[in-house]
Amino acid sequence: MGSLDCSADTSSEFKPLDPEDFRNQAHKVVDFIADYYKQVETYPVLTQVQPDYLRARLPQTAPYLPEPLETILSDVTKDIIPGMTHWLSPNFFGFFPATVSTAAFLGEMLCTSFNAVSFNWLASPAATELEMIVTDWLANMLKLPNTFMFSGTGGGVIQNTSSDAILVTLIAARDRMLRTRGSTATIQKLAVYCSDQTHSTFAKAAKLAGISPCNVKAIPTNLDTAFALSASALRLAVEADVASGLVPLYLCATVGTTSTTAIDPLPPLSDLASEFGMWMHVDAAYGGSACICPEFRHYLEGIERVDSLSLSPHKWLLTYLDCCCLWVTHPNLLVQALSTDPEYLKNKPSESKSVVDYKDWQVGTGRKFKSLRLWFVLRSYGVVSLQSHIRSDIRMAKTFEGLVKSDPRFEVVVPRNFALVCFRLNPFSGEDPERTEALNRKLLDWVNSTGRVYMTHTKVGGIYILRFAVGATLTEEHHVAAAWKLIKEGAYAVLNGV
Ligand SMILES: *Cc1c(COP(=O)(O)O)cnc(C)c1O
Repeated sequence: MGSLDCSADTSSEFKPLDPEDFRNQAHKVVDFIADYYKQVETYPVLTQVQPDYLRARLPQTAPYLPEPLETILSDVTKDIIPGMTHWLSPNFFGFFPATVSTAAFLGEMLCTSFNAVSFNWLASPAATELEMIVTDWLANMLKLPNTFMFSGTGGGVIQNTSSDAILVTLIAARDRMLRTRGSTATIQKLAVYCSDQTHSTFAKAAKLAGISPCNVKAIPTNLDTAFALSASALRLAVEADVASGLVPLYLCATVGTTSTTAIDPLPPLSDLASEFGMWMHVDAAYGGSACICPEFRHYLEGIERVDSLSLSPHKWLLTYLDCCCLWVTHPNLLVQALSTDPEYLKNKPSESKSVVDYKDWQVGTGRKFKSLRLWFVLRSYGVVSLQSHIRSDIRMAKTFEGLVKSDPRFEVVVPRNFALVCFRLNPFSGEDPERTEALNRKLLDWVNSTGRVYMTHTKVGGIYILRFAVGATLTEEHHVAAAWKLIKEGAYAVLNGV
């Protein structure tokens, strides 16, 4: 048996990174990807496979002998692509788009190629310094005050996702509070605030940070204020909590909530946060990107008085997943909370405290050279093309909104802020909420099961809403028009029971 194994052993000639093999195979994969991008429109947007579909198609065990690239790629076509929901389809209107671009892809190729694991400055100075520069560049495009920039008194970092950004700032705030308030602020007494529209990841981050789940206070919002967090409602909650002995720690406001893109009013909220000594974070994962356009910058008014801001270019700034920029006004608080100093990472520049060691700004140690992606995007397109990209998505969403408004059977439920239209079929003018909801559920299923368009839903203030999020990178006006035509066909079908 042993001799049989040895005869099949290819290890003597095994070269996992032969440059000429790499060149040859990588070219083939680039061709494969370009073909996928050309054909993606022809695939059902929402996959039609059933759970566990893949197990039946693939072998039980890994192959013992090497397989050629051609075989593997043909299985991608045969077994993987049919099981995907195609986020890059121009007919993808679900959730928020995850936008991409040639420039970001090229930056990602380099990032992956170099595989620089830049946990501290010395481990790859270019990776750290480029990240400092691109986060400053983006901060500048957003007209953030210099308290968020390395060229000023703060700084930015690229996290994986918004969840990381919220978690690390919450931990920095928690540790500062526990350090400065001593025994008057135990962890059991710390309270954190958000609205009932804040992304669910906030409650998860609070749990991870050791905040008692009953001290995560989600302030109710309503349709009258378009689901924005009201500073006066927040004040009542905070005052009641203080009176009962809790210690307000952290406020998470949102610019562009996930359900409906509601905008929490930063100026009065930041007043309140500073009055009660809370850390204030702004989650602008999606909407923040629009603020690179002067006409949308007002959504960030008041930002100069908050402690941290996160924004995910992987959503609306064409960078591929994942890339979430976090800016903080007091990097030292992150470092105090998250730094580690094992012997095997000791080095002169770190000890001199003259460099940034990004491992002290994040959860993990290892990190990729992600700034290359953002740098390629910013340089290849310039601010001017990025602005027109945002404007074009907003224009298409406006078109869709106009179509919805032109049909009396439909209504736009909340005012549109960015490129998301929240609407529903409402032929009975909401007289029978349950019947209206059932009708919209049917309509959504009808539309998505065609595979020609994918939309998602939400429920706010008890209202079941269809979300039409425009902005997948390949989407053009005619896709939006075709989607509306399909939605109208669906409305006819569900209203007439066909
Ligand atoms: C999408 C979204 C998140 C999650 O963001 P990721 O960075 O993609 O994990 C958080 N907050 C808001 C407001 C979002 O829209």
